[in-house]
Amino acid sequence: MLNIVIFGAPGSGKGTQSARIVEMYGINHISTGDVLRAEIKAGTELGRTAKGYIDQGQLLPDELIIDILASTLDSFKESKGVIFDGFPRTIAQAEALKKMLAERSQEVSVMLDLDVPEEELMTRLIKRGQESGRADDNEETIKKRLVVYHSQTSPLIDWYKNEGKYQHIQGVGTMEDIFAEISEVINKI
Ligand code: AMP
Repeated sequence: MLNIVIFGAPGSGKGTQSARIVEMYGINHISTGDVLRAEIKAGTELGRTAKGYIDQGQLLPDELIIDILASTLDSFKESKGVIFDGFPRTIAQAEALKKMLAERSQEVSVMLDLDVPEEELMTRLIKRGQESGRADDNEETIKKRLVVYHSQTSPLIDWYKNEGKYQHIQGVGTMEDIFAEISEVINKI
């Protein structure tokens, strides 16, 4: 089982690289952000709740997102592994993921930290907002999301270092170069 946490600030390329990993290694993909955007589009109650947080650049409460993650994980049958994209985002979520996987006699294989400088993140996200129209990719919300990243999410770097799972990835360069570094790491697992 290949269980990969793809980690990084908003705009670091997690979604793009996840798609390539899925294609190459045939594992399942969970993007909590994609799940929430699908709920918003479908007009569900969860979608309405999620929208309030997303539009403010804030994280959803841990219990809520952990439940969503658990039910998505259970929907995968005969999986070769999973790439977790946008989850965990807090220490409580990382602990919940560890427990969830342990209950299935599994563990995180590696945490890939896509490292991208802050100015580059801003430029990428503003461009993405113009191209995709994603509502939270506007300058004001991006700034809030980066503050949330630094205060609530980046402590996971040390958490995964302690677990012996941390792997730094240079997140700047061509998509191919970045993927080459990622696959070199995965191929050694
Ligand atoms: P993303 O597409 O991963 O950038 O997620 C977009 C937004 O969805 C985030 O800014 C949060 O509001 C919410 N979200 C996604 N994943 C999580 C998570 N693991 N914990 C809490 N909120 C999340």
